[in-house]
Parts: sequence; C-alpha cells; structure tokens
Amino acid sequence: MALQNEFDLIAVGGGLAGLTAAVRAAELGLKTAVLERSSEELYFCNSRVAGGVMHISYHDPAEPPAALAQAVTGITAGYAERELVEAFTSNGLRALQWLKSIGVQFALATNTGWRNWLLAPVRPPATHLEWRGIGADMCLRTLEKNLRERGGVLHRGTAVFDLIEKQGSCVGVRTRQGGREVEFHARAVVLADGGFQGNADMVGQYLSRKPQALKQRGTGTGLGDGIRLAQAKGAALSDMQAFYGHVLSRDAMHNERVWPYPQLDELAAAGLLVTAQGKRLGDEGQGGVYIANLMARADDPLATTVIFDEAIWQGPGKAASIPPNAVLVEQGGTLFKADTIRELAAKANIDAAALEVTVRDYNAALAANTLGQLHPPRSSARRKAMPIATAPFYAAPACCGLTYTMGGVRTNAQGQVLRAAGGVIPGLYAAGAITGGLEGGPVVGYGGGLMKALTFGLLAAEDVAGRR
Ligand SMILES: Cc1cc2nc3c(=O)[nH]c(=O)nc-3n(C[C@H](O)[C@H](O)[C@H](O)COP(=O)(O)OP(=O)(O)OC[C@H]3O[C@@H](n4cnc5c(N)ncnc54)[C@H](O)[C@@H]3O)c2cc1C
Repeated sequence: MALQNEFDLIAVGGGLAGLTAAVRAAELGLKTAVLERSSEELYFCNSRVAGGVMHISYHDPAEPPAALAQAVTGITAGYAERELVEAFTSNGLRALQWLKSIGVQFALATNTGWRNWLLAPVRPPATHLEWRGIGADMCLRTLEKNLRERGGVLHRGTAVFDLIEKQGSCVGVRTRQGGREVEFHARAVVLADGGFQGNADMVGQYLSRKPQALKQRGTGTGLGDGIRLAQAKGAALSDMQAFYGHVLSRDAMHNERVWPYPQLDELAAAGLLVTAQGKRLGDEGQGGVYIANLMARADDPLATTVIFDEAIWQGPGKAASIPPNAVLVEQGGTLFKADTIRELAAKANIDAAALEVTVRDYNAALAANTLGQLHPPRSSARRKAMPIATAPFYAAPACCGLTYTMGGVRTNAQGQVLRAAGGVIPGLYAAGAITGGLEGGPVVGYGGGLMKALTFGLLAAEDVAGRR
C-alpha cells in the first residue's frame, strides 16, 4: 500500500458538509484534502441537486437563536440533543454569512419566512431533478474553487473504506483509487459522506422491511460507509429509525417527471392516507415527512393511497411552491376522481366498504372534535384536518420518497465523534447527513439538511484549527 500525502484535515465526501469543512480549514491555514468517491467532474450528491432553501426547521436562520432553538426542539418534540441545538442555532447565521463571504450567491428575500435564504440562481419550479447550473450546484462549484485557491485538494474517484487508528486516535484513512489502495494521513478526519439512504441492507435494517419499495428521492450516494467505519471504531450511534422524505405519486417509481416534486404531503396531511384494505396507517396530522416514514414501515409501502376531496384539492393542493394541483396530472401522475367514495375505491383498487367506514368515521370525529379518539389517533395541531365531504373525491396512489437518513454518528457540538463507551474519538469528526441526534425522533422532526451540513462542517473545521 503506497503512503501518500500528509494533511491537517481530510474530509470524506465532497458534499456541502465536506467541502465546507475543508474550505474553512484551508482558510484557517490548514493543509486540507477532500476525498470523493465519484470520479465525475460534477459528481452527484444530495448537496448538488438540493432545492437550495437554507432554513432551520422551516425558520429563517437570521431569527434570534432562542427562537430557532425553540423551533428545532418543538418540531422534534424534544428529541434533538440540547448541545447540538444550541450549536446549530447560534452558528447558523454566521455559517451562512461565511458562505456568502467566499462568493456563494444568494437570492436574499425578506418576508418570505423560511425561504428568505435561497441559493442562487434559484431552482425553477420543475418537477423533475433539475440541478445543473442551479444554486446548489453553483454553491459546490464555488466551494471547490475556493479550496483550490487556498491550496487544498479534491481527489475524485477516491473511496474511503477504512479509518487508520493509532493509540485510540484517528490518524487517517485507507482509500481505493482506481485499482490501487492509497493511504492518506491527517491530524483530523471529518466524515461527511451523507447518510445511508443508498444502502439497501441498512435501509432494510432500520427503516423498512421492503427497501426496494422506497423511491430514492435524491442521488442515493449515501451508502452508510462513514457510519459503519465509525461504529467499528467504537462510535456512538443515535436512534436510526427516521429519515427525511416526502409522499410522492406512486408513478415516481417509473416516471422521472413526478419526482422529487410534486410532494403529496399537504393533500395527505389535510385528508387521509389509507392502505389497500381501506385502513389508515397513522397520524396524518404530523405532516408529510412523518407520513413518509409511516409508509416505509407499512407491510407494503407501494399499496398506500392519499384520499381527499375537492376542497382539499383546491386548497392545500395548491399551497406548495410546486403544487400537485395541477402539475401531478400534467406530468403523468395518476389521479382517480369519482362522485362517491364507493366509486372512488373501485377505481383505486381499495376495499370499498372499509374505505366508506374510514371516511365516515373520520368526518364524524372531525365534526365532533374527537379526532384523538380515532384508531389510530389523528392530530390537527400541526396540520389542519379537513373533512372529505365535497365531491368530486380523489385518490392519488402514493409511494414513499426517501431523501436522506436522519440517524447516524453522534457528535458533540464541535463535531467530534462520541465514543459509545464515553468521551470522544480523538481526531475523528462527522458533519452533515451522516450525523444523528439533531433530527428525527418519534415525530420525525426536520432541522434542514443544508444548514445542518454547512453549520457542522464549519464548526468541525474551526475545532480542528483551534487544536493546532
Ligand atoms: C431533491 C433534494 C432537494 C433537497 N432540498 C433541500 C433544501 O432545499 N434545503 C435543505 O436544507 N436540504 C435539502 N435537501 C437535503 C440536502 O441536500 C442534504 O441534507 C445535504 O446536502 C447533505 O449534505 P452532506 O454533505 O452531508 O451529504 P451529500 O451531499 O450526500 O455528500 C456526501 C458525499 O460523500 C460521497 N461519499 C459517499 N461515500 C463515500 C466514501 N466511502 N468515500 C468518499 N466519498 C464518499 C458521496 O459521493 C457524496 O458526494 C434536498 C435533498 C434532495 C435530494
């Protein structure tokens, strides 16, 4: 095995987290390298194809840290670890300003709430995976340019498969470059290889009995390598059973024009999600990310259908920035329509008698303000439940879109990887979608994938530089 290159900091993965860590470290005078598995010039990763909305739990990162902390804690129902929440919410705005300072462009808006910070050029409202030359792609290109200007390197076609340990500290990585094995040594390694959404075995272990029945709502480049390597060195893992994703048309399994948008989240959250047996799966009122997780856990994730009426179609159906009404049908997504629930069930291949009972019971509970007594209970605090009463009625066959996994390696506020037995693993850091503890929990709270990658990539680099 050839010995190559000594660095201060190595980032594993060239997404937003890895590039941010490397550029910030180079700016602080460290010798840095990014090791990226893909050999493509514009290599695919979730960071490159993202929508570019920089938010913290659907809030503007410029809001006061206390308000942001309340938002993250609230959306995760208290699951998010306090230390991570504080680091995230008190450094998010600074991280955004840093990104701006190195030349990343934003379409800054005001009074648009959580969409105030958009990477520019802003993604057009396309339903398919449109990314080339758009904000998130340009952000990665700007980061890479900065890295080179500051003397850092990005090695493409370099897949990390092992961590090098010396007396309990991480001191480098082993990689495959083409047919060769090459070692890279460093004072600090920042694992930033995304989550495990692209690893069917791990998805099967943690998220769904039928991993192939989930739609990869992203690039699927996160193979869980960093999580497995860190765990083998004694790292602590968070709860692993939550992911960030959305409810999509089932046609997304074969039609590229109906993913990553439109999301059917708002239709399901205002109406119902049912199985082929006409039964509800769980609490639709927790919103689309939660519903997508419910679908993944179902016996058959590809046999669920969103049921709603004309009022929902004309209201929440038009609410999103790329609303299902009307792009779902325009782009070839299936939507059944009928004047009665019985007729609708027949068209959508759902048990008609059972669906009639489910809709009747739901409408009655909504009218009587007893949604919490349904089986399973339905909440209406986060998303307003609406009756299914105004014909025509609609059924949209659905599938679960898996964007990235929320569980992973546990870290402290500086991004140092925690040891399961206590303390940290010296020299080992993690940032971005590989990390757990900030998002997820019983109601599957979402913190904002881009801001998480950016902020903790920055903090890891600063900690490494501070220990020089
Ligand atoms: C369609 C879509 C829209 C999104 N929109 C938004 C949005 O608007 N706002 C938001 O906050 N979030 C959004 N997200 C989520 C966001 O993109 C991610 O959470 C974030 O980019 C994760 O960044 P990361 O650097 O941790 O991982 P990634 O971007 O996944 O990068 C990881 C990199 O590591 C590389 N890698 C993997 N294994 C190895 C290995 N063994 N050795 C070397 N390299 C390896 C991969 O090839 C990849 O390049 C969106 C995601 C998708 C898919």
